This record gives sequence, structure tokens and C-alpha cells, in this order.
Amino acid sequence: MKSIVITGHGGNEVVSLIQGEKPLRQPGHALVRMQVATLNRVDLYMRNSGAGITHKLPQVMGIDGAGIVEEVDASETDLTVGQRVTLYPAVMCGRCEFCQRGEGVLCNKIQYLGEHRDGTMAQWVSVPVQNALAIPDGLSFTDAAALCGNHLTAWRMLFTKARVQPGESVLIFGIGGGVSLAALQLAKLVGLTTFVTSRSADKLSRAAALGADHCIDSSRQDVAKTVLALTQGRGVDVVIENIGGDTWPQAMKSLVRGGRLVTCGATAGDQPPADLRRIFIRQLQIMGSTLGDLSEFRQLIAFVQKTGLRPVIDSTYPMEQIHTALDRLEAGEQFGKVVLSLQD
Ligand SMILES: [Zn+2]
Repeated sequence: MKSIVITGHGGNEVVSLIQGEKPLRQPGHALVRMQVATLNRVDLYMRNSGAGITHKLPQVMGIDGAGIVEEVDASETDLTVGQRVTLYPAVMCGRCEFCQRGEGVLCNKIQYLGEHRDGTMAQWVSVPVQNALAIPDGLSFTDAAALCGNHLTAWRMLFTKARVQPGESVLIFGIGGGVSLAALQLAKLVGLTTFVTSRSADKLSRAAALGADHCIDSSRQDVAKTVLALTQGRGVDVVIENIGGDTWPQAMKSLVRGGRLVTCGATAGDQPPADLRRIFIRQLQIMGSTLGDLSEFRQLIAFVQKTGLRPVIDSTYPMEQIHTALDRLEAGEQFGKVVLSLQD
């Protein structure tokens, strides 16, 4: 079978398309004939350094993906051979205090596909059966795969962490990025007023076409001042942030008193000024978030089935063009998901 592996750390020279053996399915696992995987920023992180993440080399890349169940235990009752499934990327221990209180995503032995263990950019993948979720009719493999990384992350940020309420406003930085676009789609579907930022006029106009209420060009507008002007000096209820660096002070200044900021990334720097006085005087809430629980993924899939939400897809590449696909993501040119087709 073909798979995409990292053989070391660096640029695209450590990313190879190789021919190898199909994985052997263990008891309790499903062997899935993969159709698509999508690219995530963490794929670039694993290629570039992978620092702080225990992993072996070579390792198959890819966090999310979808395919068809080819083999399961005879005793398996939830999954059947031939079923279309999307993969939940986190494998948990099920025994630690976090797993036992239903917060598996905090598991202290958590392993992510494509980070701590072989990932999804392969023609066959073996995963624990609980990591394979049925794809509803009408949802393509590409859409189902694309939901997992970004929409699940945005889901947890908006609904579990920020606990958004009807009529609230949300500011989403860096529209065009996967989590940001997913947050915009989810926020619109539950009736929030949305503010989005980008340095690209093209991305802002595409966000407006997706229903963004206020589009702020951060290359020439001060985001916080613009948000305050648009809200009569009040600020927004919630900020969804994954950039960090110079964006962080803008995010903090855009919040209403008592507002909530949820962060899931720091691509532009992870040590911005804390601005503690602002946090306690204005009683802001700062929350971190990563991915989402299996139960949240199930909720998301049900929500997608009910609302007809479809992820925004930027482009699709064959496995042979993985370098081009990674370049597109790295350059930040994409609007929506970059997809890798895994079958010839
Ligand atoms: Zn655990």
C-alpha cells in the first residue's frame, strides 16, 4: 500500500510517498480502506520539528480521514464491513482520571493519529473501533474527513468552552484558516453575530459570501478599534483565537467586560503580553481548547446531518503531489481544507 511518511524533520525533503505493507489489524480494531485525508497545520509541525510529541520515524502523516471498513472482529456490533466511516484522531487510555470523568480529550496518555502514532495518509489504517464513526448518508468522504480537525475544534471552543448564547457576538481571527472558517460556519448556523479578520481582501469577501456580518482587514485596520466602533464601544462577547503573537492584545481589547476568549493555537507566537490588569478589572475569561471529545464529535455529526453544513474545501491533490499540497497550506493561500485523495 502507499502511504505518506515523515522520515526526519525539516522541509518537504523529509516527506516521502512510500510503498509498504498493509497494517495488521489488531483485535478490537477496524481496518479501514482510506479514501481521503485532509491536511492540518499540525502536519507541518510534525514535519518541521515534532518537538514535545513522542513519536517514531518513519511515521505516517495525517490526523483525519475517511474510508470504508474492510475488516472488524466477528463479534463487532456497531460497525460492519463496507460501512463508510470517518476517523476520530485521538486514542485515549480510558482509565485515567480524565477519561473516567468523561473528558477523554484531557487524557494524560492521549495519542493522536499522525502525531504519536501512524496517521491517516495511507491507503489502509487500523484504528480502535471506537475511533471509526459512521458517515451519515449524503455526506461525502471528503466532507466527513474535513469535519474532524477543524469543525470539532471549533465546536468545542464555541459550545463547550465559550458556551455561546443566542444573540451573542463572536470575533474570529484569521478567516481562511480551517478552525476559523469552521467557527464562522457554526456561529452563523446558531444565529450569532460574526466579526472576522484577515489580511487578505479576497478571503474577507469569501467570508462575507459565507455570511460573516462584519469583515475587518487586519492589514490596514486596527481590529480592536474597529470592533469597538462597530459595537458602540461595547466589544464582542466571545473571541475565537488561534494566532497569538501580535493578535493577542487585539483579541483582549475587543472583548466586552466579562467576555470570553478561547484559544487553540499560537502560530504567530505563544508568549504575548498577558495584560493581567485588563483580565481582572474587566473580569475576562481566558480558556484553552484542543480538538474535542468523542461525544462532541457525535454531536457535531448529528448537527451536520440536521443542518446540511458542509466544510469549505479548497483543493484536492493525489498522494504524489503531497509536497505541493503542504506548500499550499504552509503559504496560507488556501481558503478551506486542502484534501489528499488516497486511492488511485
Ligand atoms: Zn485517559
